[in-house]
Amino acid sequence: MTAEIICVGTELLLGDIVNTNAQFLSRELAELGISVLHQHVIGDNPGRLAELVRQGAARSELLVFSGGLGPTEDDLTKETVAGVFGDTLHFDEEEWQKILAFFARTGRRPTPNNRKQAMVPTRGHKLPNAHGTAPGAWFEMPGCVAVLLPGVPREMKAMWAEDVRPALEARQNCTIRSRTLRVLGGESSIASKVAPLFESENPTAAIYCKTGESEIRVTARAAGAAEAEAACDARIAEFRRILGPNAYDVDVPGLEYTVVRVLKERGLHAATAESCTGGLVAEKITSVPGASEVFGFGFVTYAESAKSRLLGVDPALIERYNVVSGPVAVAMAYGALDASGADLAIGITGLAGPGGALPGKPVGTVYLAGADARSGRAYLMRLKLGGYRERSIIRTRAALYALDLLRRMALDLPTEEALAVPDRRTPPETLDV
Ligand code: ATP
Ligand code: MG
Repeated sequence: MTAEIICVGTELLLGDIVNTNAQFLSRELAELGISVLHQHVIGDNPGRLAELVRQGAARSELLVFSGGLGPTEDDLTKETVAGVFGDTLHFDEEEWQKILAFFARTGRRPTPNNRKQAMVPTRGHKLPNAHGTAPGAWFEMPGCVAVLLPGVPREMKAMWAEDVRPALEARQNCTIRSRTLRVLGGESSIASKVAPLFESENPTAAIYCKTGESEIRVTARAAGAAEAEAACDARIAEFRRILGPNAYDVDVPGLEYTVVRVLKERGLHAATAESCTGGLVAEKITSVPGASEVFGFGFVTYAESAKSRLLGVDPALIERYNVVSGPVAVAMAYGALDASGADLAIGITGLAGPGGALPGKPVGTVYLAGADARSGRAYLMRLKLGGYRERSIIRTRAALYALDLLRRMALDLPTEEALAVPDRRTPPETLDV
């Protein structure tokens, strides 16, 4: 099947919003084995839109639209496509009642314009929208199908997943399932280890780079769901075998979700003592629902006096080794354990820049320590993040390393890159790395 994506909205043409819908739809269609021949962006102009719909319908079998289903005068996608597809629209009482109920729930009043949103195709059919007011629409004419979805990404994605994708799967005679493996580390170092797995045609695998980590999306096609899922799982297992513990989880939004899950499973509490990350690690952990079961104390100790007063870091240690140093990071982690009574704690002190470089400690030098109350042991890492140049990236990466150290301590996974600190009596000079 061949397809075109048509995103309608003058604000897209003006650069006011990024066309993330096109990216989403392209990726989904590719997974369905549907070839996307064109992506279009077009303003709210019925004449130009009609012309584009005529051209698209003449050369492709599927047209997927996003945007222009709203109540305002310039929202004309449905009317225009109906015209080209030789269909008409009629008022749908059931949709209208849903729209009225939606307004009542959200404490707003409908305007007469909203009745426009209850207009649905006569020969084609409507696509219910459980997350907003405007239903989508499905039009057909010989040789071409048009699917109209709202512009709001949340609504568009939900309707795609609930209605459109299953309908297209049925037409393609297959079922498709995907799983996403998340892996710490850069795309090139990962890709080089697992290159052959990216060449397979079913399941397919694609890698997407994020800050400090990558996503590997595995997609399998099969006759049935169970078969497709099994093929995905088997391929994910192969990736995990090669990538080891850096491949940390499947189908999670981020490392913090894994950390919270692992802490819960092990019945552990964690605490954080942060300087250069300013609470980023705590923010990440507490963004996960249910974090209160595993996290109670996050210290942001930006000033030297705060490190001493809240975490009991000896001012003489700071004086002697500098506040950005291994001994101070380790003392912060042990201090956070003491102050919180947690099982695991991390301490972070570093130079996020752009100014403030020290002799032998360029911007991007971050000391990360993790202390474990169960064994009395600690781990120390000196991160060199200066190559990234940007303060925000240095902070984000440092936070990611901290989450990973928590995960590894909780799971008793080897932390090869870290210096093992046997106990609190370890002489500070050995930590001055
Ligand atoms: P509404 O009922 O809200 O008017 P609509 O179907 O008419 O919905 P638009 O008015 O085109 O949709 O877009 C609504 C909002 O959805 C836009 O303000 C924008 O934030 C977002 N949006 C629209 N199109 C896209 C797109 N292609 N990519 C990402 N976001 C989009
Ligand atoms: Mg609109």
